[in-house]
Amino acid sequence: MAVPELPEVETIRRQLAPLVEGRTLARLHIADARWCLPLAPEAVADAVQGRRVERLARRGKYLIWELADDVFLLMHLRMTGILLYDPPPGAPYERVRFELGDGHVLRFCDPRRFGTGELQIGTGARDAFLAARLGVEPLSGELTGASLQRMARGRRAPVKAFLLDQRRIAGVGNIYADEALFRARVHPLRPAGRLTRAQWDALAQAVRDALDAGLAAGGATIDDYRDADGARGSFQDEFLVHRRRGEPCPVCGTPVVKLVAAGRGTYACERCQPRPRRRRAVATP
Ligand SMILES: [Zn+2]
Repeated sequence: MAVPELPEVETIRRQLAPLVEGRTLARLHIADARWCLPLAPEAVADAVQGRRVERLARRGKYLIWELADDVFLLMHLRMTGILLYDPPPGAPYERVRFELGDGHVLRFCDPRRFGTGELQIGTGARDAFLAARLGVEPLSGELTGASLQRMARGRRAPVKAFLLDQRRIAGVGNIYADEALFRARVHPLRPAGRLTRAQWDALAQAVRDALDAGLAAGGATIDDYRDADGARGSFQDEFLVHRRRGEPCPVCGTPVVKLVAAGRGTYACERCQPRPRRRRAVATP
């Protein structure tokens, strides 16, 4: 199951920002109380209703409504959440409805109900919430080979698991991790602590390149992801290796293989991305 990653959330943000910024969030109707647990829907609605939307921001995979007086509503779409702007009547699985002062409506529809809404009041509370969950923002200047190598020092977990850890790099999920590892010619099962500095430099650049390619295509559409108009991104047509098992590698023609890394279906070309050499098993007491 694919979930929205940074390019998909950023695509939604870019589309919605001009439609909501400067408007008033007149009414928030939370139909599913699970969305904002542990807060009650009325408490969240009372805190945000009537406030001007100063900015629609993003950090990692969180979409952030920055409202007047430093009130923040942080949305995570999780697996199947979509935000639809003025959809035709009868949009299924509606959990939350945002009514804007200009008469337009945003509906958050989420068949599997994993999406969440978090209220944070004050920039300090917002920053603490995000800092506890998210590492570097990959499209900022913070993502460098040096910083990645420092974070990975001594870690034996596969580099794929390292890339998926949101507390290290925010916003990279299964699609973009596979694409970045292929671009950097690094095998997904290589222990993170054993990459060379040159490999980290290549990987930092490859993460940015893969995310940029996703953004340029309006994100990827797999299963449930749609952008704010209900349209679908096209990046899935441009995957280099992800979900391309058995197809020729775009660089060398070797069939792409599917393996499991970090518990996730993972795609690689084992010619371009050589497997780490097996070390002799060491007996443990
Ligand atoms: Zn190849």
